[in-house]
Amino acid sequence: MTSQKVREQFLNFFKNKEHKIVPSAPLVIKNDPTLMFTNAGMNQFKEFFLGNSQAKEKQVADTQKCLRVSGKHNDLEEVGKDTYHHTMFEMLGNWSFGAYFKKEAIEWAWELLTEVYGIDKDSLYVTVFEGSDDADNLELDKEAFEFWKAILPEERILMGNKKDNFWEMGDQGPCGPCSEIHVDIRSEAEKKQTPGSKLVNKDHPQVVEVWNLVFIQYNRKANGELEDLPEKHIDTGMGFERLCMVLQGVQSTYDTDIFTPLTREIETITGHKVGLTEEVDIAIRVVADHIRAVSFAIADGQLPSNTGAGYVIRRILRRAVRYGFTFLDAKEPFLYRLVKVLIEIMGKAFPELKSQRQLIENVIKEEENSFLSTLEQGLVLLDSIVKSTSGKTIDGDKAFELYDTFGFPIDLTSLILEEKGYELDTAGFEKALQAQKDRSRKASEISKADWTVLHADSEQEFVGYDQLETEVKLVKYRKV
Ligand code: ATP
Ligand code: MG
Ligand code: MG
Ligand code: MG
Repeated sequence: MTSQKVREQFLNFFKNKEHKIVPSAPLVIKNDPTLMFTNAGMNQFKEFFLGNSQAKEKQVADTQKCLRVSGKHNDLEEVGKDTYHHTMFEMLGNWSFGAYFKKEAIEWAWELLTEVYGIDKDSLYVTVFEGSDDADNLELDKEAFEFWKAILPEERILMGNKKDNFWEMGDQGPCGPCSEIHVDIRSEAEKKQTPGSKLVNKDHPQVVEVWNLVFIQYNRKANGELEDLPEKHIDTGMGFERLCMVLQGVQSTYDTDIFTPLTREIETITGHKVGLTEEVDIAIRVVADHIRAVSFAIADGQLPSNTGAGYVIRRILRRAVRYGFTFLDAKEPFLYRLVKVLIEIMGKAFPELKSQRQLIENVIKEEENSFLSTLEQGLVLLDSIVKSTSGKTIDGDKAFELYDTFGFPIDLTSLILEEKGYELDTAGFEKALQAQKDRSRKASEISKADWTVLHADSEQEFVGYDQLETEVKLVKYRKV
């Protein structure tokens, strides 16, 4: 089943269950100071759960563009190394705002997975909140347990603790237990050795969590106590790429039709092929993943920059450039050439990619050019730093030089050092960064205080920019 069809069937299924299909919210959030990027389907419905506004439609479903690279959900380090975490991914979701509750959410999830998508029932496992003996003193989620027991054998219902199976939006506010659905995609031989019920994906990469059903039934008060909500809500999220992996019978999301055309293009452009070395495989996965995150962010208006959300996008992009440079011998800009293929795969579902194509390509190409111009020298410097270090920890000052002069984001330096078996003195880096900020602030104070009006006849020579962490650029002029 093609990914296009998988998405369509999800939306049709819930449309037939009287859900209103709504568009994905933008990836970039402008009106919520607690979040930089959309990281779950429920973000755009937060106000309904908080009770600050009433939903006009009580049952909705959609596919939501998500980015998990900052804050509570940061999967960046996993991406490329494992085969099912992405920076940008689609989360399919259905919601009930005070309409249906656990019974329907559970039965419909099961119906969709087993009857519509035809997933083998014996490969599915579910988790249920087991309760907690802490201050909340919660009991086992018996309701969910009973509904699951009516549809699958008890040995495939696993108990989950508060960390994994109790969802909270924050210190206060709506919360509740959840049930997650896992699919065992191991080979038959492996399945015989250990039953899947002993495993969830933190224990085995091929027993993968696909769907999280959250039952929002409590409100956490300011004093920390829980009270029952007058209206109960459903919030679900299913990883689209993981679902396609299961339905297309492959072992990695990168082997689905969502990613293979990108992989082929990367192979064609760089001449490197998957399946030969682990390093190249990781690099190809990173590039295929990151081009999506960066393109979608730009399409939604977030350009790479030196601050905030823009810097997160720049870091992702530079990470991709460096993986390409080091492991795929990509010495020229090439990421921007993948945008065309990405649009072929996703342009129908997300037309913003098509309409912003020119901008996306231009911005990426420009960014690649700019980073490539310093990357090689920076890598040479980093090598010499490593060689001249006697211990296993690299000075923060040195990492700062790479950041300041060569544009190496600090997580990129850490990553390269980790590959070489070194670690970074992050505290030292922070100190150097702070010192630079202080210097720049002082400089800008002085320049304001000693402001001199340059007359048309006074000659001046441009001597460069001081690039600050903030978007302020101090243009330095010297009188000659
Ligand atoms: P995991 O334990 O695999 O990190 P999660 O529990 O953090 O997933 P949820 O917050 O429950 O994920 O999100 C709902 C669904 O979204 C998950 O069941 C999974 O299928 C999907 N998902 C979560 N994170 C990612 C990611 N980084 N890349 C792709 N899909 C993801
Ligand atoms: Mg996670
Ligand atoms: Mg999980
Ligand atoms: Mg989960």
